[in-house]
Amino acid sequence: MIAGHYATALLPERTPSAAQLAFFLTASQLPDLAWFGLTFLGLEPVHTHAGPAHLELIVTHDLLPTLPWLVVAALAGRAVFGEWRPGWIAAALVAAHAAADLLSGYPHFVAGPDTQPLGLGLYYSAPYVAVALEAVFAAVVLGWVVNRERQSGLVRSGTTWAGRALIFGFGIATSFATAPSLGDLPPNGTLPVSMAAGLLMLYSAQIAVLTWTESRPAVEAQVTGTAAGVR
Ligand SMILES: [Zn+2]
Repeated sequence: MIAGHYATALLPERTPSAAQLAFFLTASQLPDLAWFGLTFLGLEPVHTHAGPAHLELIVTHDLLPTLPWLVVAALAGRAVFGEWRPGWIAAALVAAHAAADLLSGYPHFVAGPDTQPLGLGLYYSAPYVAVALEAVFAAVVLGWVVNRERQSGLVRSGTTWAGRALIFGFGIATSFATAPSLGDLPPNGTLPVSMAAGLLMLYSAQIAVLTWTESRPAVEAQVTGTAAGVR
């Protein structure tokens, strides 16, 4: 799951600042960003096995090693914004990433390949179903966000909608188009550093685009805005 994670970052605040948005979007992808970053240091090599392939992302995606990342996210929020609320939100977003990956992603383990595997593992067994689940997940989350905006009389600009179409619409369409390659891992391979760099650039660009488009001025609707103001 890629686009679906970003959707969760739009949930916590109705009108977050650009800095909050960038922080929440980063937190929503922290396990993947940490994975790509640690690849450079050789600390999270992607071990794949022949046979029923398993992508081992022990440090960033297994259940128990995810817990320290929640603490990192919470402390980062406290450090950056001087209050705990953004930190708790960030920790929740990291937890949501882990949970959503179990629904639509590679299977992970409790703590290493000798422990209990977790998750549906649909990237291997049914990649199109995995992407379809991601599409439904993103649609439900975004539908909730859009409904909240409508109820509070918040009218989003064309730029905001263009960003949503690009990241969620085009993003998930691209995942559909490339779905069969998800489970097509080289046996005993590792993630090439060049691929980690490319993914890091892609994610950074997506975060930058969504931060910008989501923080375009929202127009309080003339009629309903008054009602929202009274509330
Ligand atoms: Zn992930």
